[in-house]
Amino acid sequence: MKLSDVFQMPTPMKISGRSSSITAAFVTAIVPQVEPLEEEIREALNILEMSPDRMECVYCGGSYSEWDHLRPLVSDQKPTGFITEIRNLVPSCGKCNQSKGNKDWKAWMTSDAKLSPKTRGVKDIGLRIARLTKYEQWGNLVPLDLSAFVTKEEWDQYWENWKALLRAMNDTQKHAASLKATIQKKISSSNKAIQPTAKGGG
Ligand SMILES: [Zn+2]
Repeated sequence: MKLSDVFQMPTPMKISGRSSSITAAFVTAIVPQVEPLEEEIREALNILEMSPDRMECVYCGGSYSEWDHLRPLVSDQKPTGFITEIRNLVPSCGKCNQSKGNKDWKAWMTSDAKLSPKTRGVKDIGLRIARLTKYEQWGNLVPLDLSAFVTKEEWDQYWENWKALLRAMNDTQKHAASLKATIQKKISSSNKAIQPTAKGGG
């Protein structure tokens, strides 16, 4: 092992690198949430072969920590029309939720994506896919055209704001890169990091 093998520089953060989180926030901020009836929770758990005392991640069988959207809310930077309701939610562990992201659940489960059930060697993937297919049939999900519930003006204004924010983030990133280059150059011109001199200090 060389010294350079054990040292790793952290990846620098970019303001423009947060654009997919911003897009996700714009979509999820307008997606309606429908609280389930107790009967629906019971039905959902029956189909998933779980009970309040026997809960697990549907994808991998690990311990569940959240309910994950089976069909993603965002695709191609737009709302898919699927909403937050129990028929579109399944108990999931954080690892699976993170790894699945906005991917199609079935393709993801058997894909080589990092931390996918296949990658993690989950044994009963076929059984889990069959269960989830049954769940989807029960849910009978139809995507909604969210724009149809508001005026065109309200809808368009919202997405104009989204574009403006992304533009501002891109411009700000350019500004940041220029500031960083200047600062870095001054730092590098000395052998050690220079402490900026306090303003007004003699
Ligand atoms: Zn899982």
